[in-house]
Amino acid sequence: MTDDLPPLEAEIRRRIAAAGPMPVAQYMTLCLTHPEHGYYVTRDPFGAKGDFVTAPEISQMFGELIGLWAAATWKLMGAPENVRLVELGPGRGTMMLDALRAVQIVPDFRKAIVLHLVEISPTLEQRQRQALGGIDVPAEWHQSLEQVPDGPVIIIGNEFVDALPVHQAVMCVDGWHERVVKIADNGSLQFGHARDPIPLFEQMLPPKLRNAPIGAIFEWRADRIALEIGRRVVHSHGAALLVDYGHVESAVGDTFQAVRRQAFTNPLRAPGAVDLTAHVDFQALANAAESLGARVHGPIEQAQFLRRLGIETRAEALRKGSPMSVNADINNALIRLTSEETTGMGRLFKAIAFGDPKLGELPGFESWHIDGETHDGRVFGALRRT
Ligand code: SAH
Repeated sequence: MTDDLPPLEAEIRRRIAAAGPMPVAQYMTLCLTHPEHGYYVTRDPFGAKGDFVTAPEISQMFGELIGLWAAATWKLMGAPENVRLVELGPGRGTMMLDALRAVQIVPDFRKAIVLHLVEISPTLEQRQRQALGGIDVPAEWHQSLEQVPDGPVIIIGNEFVDALPVHQAVMCVDGWHERVVKIADNGSLQFGHARDPIPLFEQMLPPKLRNAPIGAIFEWRADRIALEIGRRVVHSHGAALLVDYGHVESAVGDTFQAVRRQAFTNPLRAPGAVDLTAHVDFQALANAAESLGARVHGPIEQAQFLRRLGIETRAEALRKGSPMSVNADINNALIRLTSEETTGMGRLFKAIAFGDPKLGELPGFESWHIDGETHDGRVFGALRRT
């Protein structure tokens, strides 16, 4: 009965038939990173003709500013030799290429860089090797952050965490149950929940999320990446910057979503052929990295972060001497990246950084003053786990 199905859907159904309903996180892992049929493994999904467009693909300004952020952070670190510049999930390599071009104005930094690209997809790794092939900076590829050698480090990542598998739990009469994917009576893939509740789940939730109503959904990711980032920036000295979309404070809600050709679609249809993501819980990331001694900076909205790094000045420099049509593109990109409308990228996306506490404040996250009041750039100082 699974013979005519695409191979990944057939495999998912075989696994469910053999082992029972599959947690959403396992479904997401298989769909995105199955070694043969996973979404990222079989294609290059980016760009105007692809499924989605990311900030570095919208404009070179994004990667350039991230590059300058890295250079400024490197100076704060005391300008170490052999600094590992790590990118998590580099996609087409566009952000890194723009970053390296921008840091030509800080030649000592550029000379000190050893690149480490963390990429799970061999297809995208090839793409990145092509993009970065012509540059005079040594580069290595790894499948996980753990494989990057220890040492002074600057980690960057755009839209990386949202692609990591998310677990979901559903509140039922007798407590929280893991949300699963099952085969319904009519033969289609459907959401359900595991038979038994997850022991002690309620106690692990932030206090204000306890007593959630029946049907509420809570999402969480493995802490591994945030713990590894926290460990590295403290013990090997350095900092990390992640830009992604999500919520500043842990909350209930179902954000597991599928996108194909820039439109939302059903996450249980066409597994492996559509992009699956879920919002990032920045509070959870911050708590994990902080538990290993990292100082957390932000999160702040992307619009504010890019403005503080000087996106408007950069846009003006690019406009000078460009033909009118290019000027219009630059203006459109600037508006897109910094739009603060409810669904604008500038607002939905946030920047968070983790640093060795010895570094003090990091670029873009410094204290600032509005109407005589001092804000310290740590928007959720008040939300720490108690
Ligand atoms: N940063 C890029 C791409 C974002 S998409 C941009 O902004 O355009 C997510 C990227 O993370 C892809 O390169 C994908 O292949 C990679 N990725 C997804 N899951 C991964 C994992 N578990 N480990 C390493 N890389 C992963």
